Amino acid sequence: MKFATLTSCFERLEATSSRNDMTALLARLLAGSAPDEIGIVCYFVLGEIGPGYSGVNLGIGDRTAAAAIALAAGADPASVEAAARELGDYGDAAARLTGRPAEGLAEFFPTAGSLTVADVHRGFMEIARASGPGSADRKTRILAAMLAAATPLERRYLIRLVTGEMRLGAGDMTLLDALAEAFLGSKAQRPHLEHAYNLSSDIGHVARTLQERGLPGVSAISVTLHRPIRPMLTQRVALLSEILERIGSPVIAVEEKYDGERVQAHKDGDDVTLFSRRLSDVTHQYPDIVRHVRRCVTADTAILDGEAVAFDHETGIYRPFQTLMRRRRKHRVREVAGVIPAIYRVFDLLYVNGESYLRRSYPDRRARLEEVLGRDEQISPAGRIVTGDLDGITEFYLSCIERGLEGVVCKSCAEDSFYRAGAREWQWIKWKTDYAPDLSDTLDLVVIGANAGRGKRAGTYGSVLCAAYNNEEDIFQTVCGMGTGFSDADLADLPRRLAGVRVDRRPARVMVNPQAAPDFWFAPAKVVEVLGLEITESPVHTCNWDPERRRGLALRFPRFVRWRDEKSPEVATTVAEVAAMFRRRRGA
Ligand code: AMP
Repeated sequence: MKFATLTSCFERLEATSSRNDMTALLARLLAGSAPDEIGIVCYFVLGEIGPGYSGVNLGIGDRTAAAAIALAAGADPASVEAAARELGDYGDAAARLTGRPAEGLAEFFPTAGSLTVADVHRGFMEIARASGPGSADRKTRILAAMLAAATPLERRYLIRLVTGEMRLGAGDMTLLDALAEAFLGSKAQRPHLEHAYNLSSDIGHVARTLQERGLPGVSAISVTLHRPIRPMLTQRVALLSEILERIGSPVIAVEEKYDGERVQAHKDGDDVTLFSRRLSDVTHQYPDIVRHVRRCVTADTAILDGEAVAFDHETGIYRPFQTLMRRRRKHRVREVAGVIPAIYRVFDLLYVNGESYLRRSYPDRRARLEEVLGRDEQISPAGRIVTGDLDGITEFYLSCIERGLEGVVCKSCAEDSFYRAGAREWQWIKWKTDYAPDLSDTLDLVVIGANAGRGKRAGTYGSVLCAAYNNEEDIFQTVCGMGTGFSDADLADLPRRLAGVRVDRRPARVMVNPQAAPDFWFAPAKVVEVLGLEITESPVHTCNWDPERRRGLALRFPRFVRWRDEKSPEVATTVAEVAAMFRRRRGA
């Protein structure tokens, strides 16, 4: 496929204002892709270069991008940077350039004007492979060569792809719908594809398999070591007393809820890989956990699900999430790991010695986990009780809070308590009441717009517009504008934090009423944790929108708590959850 075909589809996708049209455009694009390209097309649509877990890192920031654009257009980097500032985007700056490329760029792409999708992918892989002395220069030259061989529109998307700022607003579920429409005749077939995607976390692999071997091939996709499984998620309730009824099994397990980072560990002999909740490879961040897994997991091969937590061995108290996140700065990992050791609390077993455990009940998985995991301070199964009694749950919850934990996660012990990869169902319910007096929990919302700041806030944003995720329709619906809770530093940082997702018009998957239309729009990407007082009906916000009564739901008195960069927009609080909170409150 010509890269130009892809980029003209991108342009149309950006101009689309309905999710259905977006799916139809994507379905046509995918149906016209060759088997060796369809995977790449999927990654590019999502603004990625490969499956998230593959860890392909181009290592290109704005500076390198500017240098490459300058080289391709015979301009100087300062003028490229000025154009990018004026246009708000390096992609648009690249598209506008008209000069002649520097000498000697034809080495990689000899025939200008005929880039294919495969060429672009090959170029990206070359860029990713360049390492060691002189690599920055080599990366710049390869990118410049691609730009020199590209049309203006192609240049725009080449730059947006390499800098990670695609902003098409298509999510993985939209893409799965499009695949189902293109190859299985209807979106109704999406669940088959979604299942394979949940197990493999690689949409390109699902697409290739579907095109080559149809549904039987996709159904044969199974758990594979060193490929992350999409994690099972938790539900929430408004009252502790609802938990037993909701889960529906006579006894439940009540587990300690740790406030750390979700980590899925794959052990393959001595080879250990760790994945984050967003499925990226975080092995290098936790050398201590790698050692614990090697040392204490007795099975040859295993996949564990659990939480990496900072723990103070002197006081016996768990330390908060923020402490652990200080390890994020890669170059200091070893130094910081000495000061803030991470321990691993394992709450599930997904695979052992060649066998998938996803379709085993939670009690079976837990029993096997206890067999294969040698207990010690550094690594152990999650602490828990098994009970059918509300007082038992309450007491255990209070003892967790005393020990510095966040709360509890209650889990079904029924026969069908399978591990539901990627799903948020009633088998797992979290309970934490640390901040909101009225709401039982904070909400994780997606920032989709902002208003310009005035007075003291001139130069930054005055408030951000937040949305919940409607997982049935795969769209985002607004719940509140939020301007409080930010520190001065948070406020000053807003424009930088949101620059990469800014778009010119309302993204297709976002539903906003005209009264709430913000000054600036953002592609749904950034998740923020928000505390609020209560949920009320609203004629302005579109969350749970009732077209007849022209009413939605709003969160009153929203306050910023923290950014949740580890969460993708599709795991944000759902519209159904907000509606359930509202109904319960009214019933209370
Ligand atoms: P939240 O991030 O507040 O939506 O809560 C869900 C998260 O709690 C999961 O993604 C895990 O990272 C974390 N967690 C901590 N302890 C447990 C546990 N025992 N079982 C399941 N999830 C847990």
